[in-house]
Amino acid sequence: MKQLRLHWKKVFGALALGLVLLMVAGWQLSRSRDYQLLGEIVPRVDIDKKLVALTFDDGPTPGFTEEILTTLKTHQVPATFFVTGKDLAKHPELGKKIVRAGHELGNHSFSHKRMVFTPYDKVRQELEATEDLIKQAGQNEPIFFRPPYTKKLFNLPLYLWLNQVVSITTDVEPDSYPEVAASADNIADYVAAEVQPGSIVLLHVMYPSRATSMAAVPGIIQKLRQQGYEFVTVRDLLAERQRA
Ligand SMILES: [Zn+2]
Repeated sequence: MKQLRLHWKKVFGALALGLVLLMVAGWQLSRSRDYQLLGEIVPRVDIDKKLVALTFDDGPTPGFTEEILTTLKTHQVPATFFVTGKDLAKHPELGKKIVRAGHELGNHSFSHKRMVFTPYDKVRQELEATEDLIKQAGQNEPIFFRPPYTKKLFNLPLYLWLNQVVSITTDVEPDSYPEVAASADNIADYVAAEVQPGSIVLLHVMYPSRATSMAAVPGIIQKLRQQGYEFVTVRDLLAERQRA
């Protein structure tokens, strides 16, 4: 009897350990910048040419959108904006302004919720509703996708794969580190140090709390140009792969 109880203890112990390992693996998988179960995910394009893509997440929000568009125009830099459907539905004119200025709009979901255990139908609604709004703003296909919080697990990659939508993540994300994000100078220095040919830089500039990121943009442009970098949209960066 005692032996049997010991045996079960071992089995339960092994099962519990297995479950914990599975949860850790699932969590790592859900937050990965360069791996998803199905479909293509791109944190950086592997090229030698000194091209870099600036990408801005969330919004479009009034005021901040005009401000970043003015900065980009002053410096003649094209960029990619991963916008949410909920904000684009509120401010369709801002989406049009972004496209008209020669920038690219990408899909950042409708509600900006983490899509880890989201049912397939909900994933489809989130992406399709936003894609419709992006097309109405004048953006042509292909429209790239960036998962909110970089989160995904099963249904989101399945949808992306079935619909041949490419996930764009990042290899340089200064405002994910509070000590870097604390000042515009730190952000610009960090980006200048971390960027490689084909890098995809992620910045948040659509909120009052991200004033340092907004203020860092001219410095980032100046420093990267000094290093010989040229700015392109995500679409043009991906097109470079065929040429390489
Ligand atoms: Zn976001």
